[in-house]
Amino acid sequence: MENFKIEVDGDGIALVTFDVPGRTMNTLTASVIREIGEVVETIKSDTAIKGAVITSGKTTGFCAGADLGELGGSEGFAGDLKAAFDAGFALNKAFRALETGGKPVAAAINGLAMGGGLEMTLACHYRVVADNPKIQLSLPEAKVGLLPGGGGTQRLTRLMGVMAAAPFLLEGKSMKPAEALGFKVVHEVVPADQVVEAAKTWVKTKGDPVAPWDKKDFKIPGGGPYTASGSQVFIMGNAMLRKQTYGNYPAQLNIMKAVYEGLQVPFDAAIRIETRYFLKTLMSPQAKGMIRTLFLSLQELGKGSGRPAGVPHYDVKKVAVLGAGMMGAGIAYVQAMAGIETVLIDQTQEAADKGKGYAEGLVKKAVSRGKMTQEKGDAILALIHPTADYAQVKGSDLVVEAVFENRDVKAEVTRKAEAQLADTAIFGSNTSTLPITGLAKASVRPASFIGIHFFSPVDKMGLVEIIMGEETSQEALAKSIDYVLKIKKTPIVVNDSRGFYTSRCFGTFVQEGMELLSDGYAPAIIDNVGRATGMPRGPLEMHDDVALDLSYKIAQQTKKDLGDKYEERPFTAIIEKMVEGEGRYGRKNGKGFYDYPENGPKVLWKGLSDLAPVRIAEVDKVGIEEIRTRLLYRQAVEAARCFEEGVITDPREADVGAILGWGFAPWTGGPISLIDGVGAAEFVKACDALAQKYGARFSPPQLLRDMAAKGETFYSRFGAKERIAA
Ligand code: NAD
Repeated sequence: MENFKIEVDGDGIALVTFDVPGRTMNTLTASVIREIGEVVETIKSDTAIKGAVITSGKTTGFCAGADLGELGGSEGFAGDLKAAFDAGFALNKAFRALETGGKPVAAAINGLAMGGGLEMTLACHYRVVADNPKIQLSLPEAKVGLLPGGGGTQRLTRLMGVMAAAPFLLEGKSMKPAEALGFKVVHEVVPADQVVEAAKTWVKTKGDPVAPWDKKDFKIPGGGPYTASGSQVFIMGNAMLRKQTYGNYPAQLNIMKAVYEGLQVPFDAAIRIETRYFLKTLMSPQAKGMIRTLFLSLQELGKGSGRPAGVPHYDVKKVAVLGAGMMGAGIAYVQAMAGIETVLIDQTQEAADKGKGYAEGLVKKAVSRGKMTQEKGDAILALIHPTADYAQVKGSDLVVEAVFENRDVKAEVTRKAEAQLADTAIFGSNTSTLPITGLAKASVRPASFIGIHFFSPVDKMGLVEIIMGEETSQEALAKSIDYVLKIKKTPIVVNDSRGFYTSRCFGTFVQEGMELLSDGYAPAIIDNVGRATGMPRGPLEMHDDVALDLSYKIAQQTKKDLGDKYEERPFTAIIEKMVEGEGRYGRKNGKGFYDYPENGPKVLWKGLSDLAPVRIAEVDKVGIEEIRTRLLYRQAVEAARCFEEGVITDPREADVGAILGWGFAPWTGGPISLIDGVGAAEFVKACDALAQKYGARFSPPQLLRDMAAKGETFYSRFGAKERIAA
């Protein structure tokens, strides 16, 4: 065996060390699953072995679970259902053999155990875990659209009860060792250097080789589906699931079904039921898209896969942030957290100090909650130097400009900061709307001028959109990616365009909400269906969050810039009246499409029906489906246009950027995965029909027609390609 080592001690206890060669962390590869069978066979057949302890040979943890790279690559089993079932059942079969081999087996969990890793320990008769609050025990499958398929849905519910297990199965929540002990998911928590010994002691002294559910008097904690209390959990659970997922996520639904059906039958039948739902989930387009985007692509981009090769690593040690407002203050904080010395500049010392106050507040909160020591907090804050003096910019490896969204102000601070910069340093602008090529005109070194677009709130949002201006060099791009990775964010790279990639596509969601409003749909229908698409909020709510006056200002600027090409829409008048006539700016002044009373939830603004009379107050299933399609396809067709125009060039970046940047319905795997899942031909057909009914904004770009004709997907056409030089 290459993944397991077995050593039998003088007491006849086999220490099985799980250690996948050549990897820093154990994962359940196909070869590991095969070898678990051999381990079980050895324990069973060797008469010198009385029992076993399984531990990990890695310092990084016990096991991180299935190899999602392998799983994500499974394209289906070409209709051979028996072969599919056997492949899917292999893990359950191996774990069940371990559990019913007739000899006691204990798990010595010396680090994180996730997914199949935790399931392996649940198939052991006893679990000892190291006393370290950093250890996570979890079944995170649902987070990437999967279902735990190694007995997790059956064993965790039989250990904890359905109600307690629900958040761990449905949301992938993780538990710390102490919590796991409280839930009776593990039996002992001991100092890290004693886990193996404690596990051996149990095997030697108590060693019971029969799992609780294989005993005659076993009862599910809290009751099974057919008990009075148990049935309540399923009734409520179903309603809650519907409310939270709107039926968009097959994983959660299938987990519920596997639990409901599995708890009513003996264990061997239960795991077969689980495998069926596992396969059904795995083969869904949702799982495929989510695994690819939320796990594989996210991981690849997090390693800088889009970075041009050949530029030496750029270790950013000092950064000047210009503008200590909402964005600058957040950027200063994340930089200091990453150990970067930060000069935080504003017009006055007072304004700069106020910006540092944001980091001070966050650090204070973390210290008071025991999440950070005072010393660490002090060291972080000592890295932020608030000032109004541009001379302090000297020695910076990078500048991030986050002053007012105004070309003249930006030009002025660019000149002032550049006067202090070394030739090797990079200048990044955090503008949200102004094209980078235009801003770079104020720069004397446009090759080193780039867009570094953060999202608000900076400390919570994981994405950074890097924008290439016409003259931006590949070296500047590589250096900016190094910086973004250092502050632990995920970079995507786009070419200059109005609204870049994220704001441009997100804008279409909000605009389609406005189109629906001027079509006469009741606002409640628009936002309810909007939420049911899987977007975080409906389009009107989101519009309020973004601010109506901002959207009005951008529309006016676009009209000025585009001249005759600007298409006036009926909804512009509604926004104009709301902003100019009624002073309704959105959530920020408590007045938008909704009113925001101090105590209590928001309510739709009564006056809205005067500006946008309701003509459609009821919709049937077909109508709902059409609104849903309009809201999602409008964004997806815009993402396709961004490909055609070369604004974005990598499908992974388009999908990750959409989900992380503007919350595009995660169940789709992103707008590009959505189109690929539907198929270009179908998508084009649907968009043509929408265009005919609602206008050219739905017209599919030529690129999509070409792809449809050739039967291509975005991932096949643009995948794994060298970055297109800007
Ligand atoms: P803000 O108004 O909160 O902060 C701007 C700061 O810049 C103010 O503190 C102001 O005093 C300072 N400033 C103005 N002129 C200056 C000068 N000459 N020198 C030094 N400081 C100066 O604005 P914000 O929301 O932080 O936005 C800043 C930039 O980031 C804008 O370009 C905006 O478009 C962009 N942006 C904003 C968001 C967002 O959600 N707010 C998201 C992404 C990007």
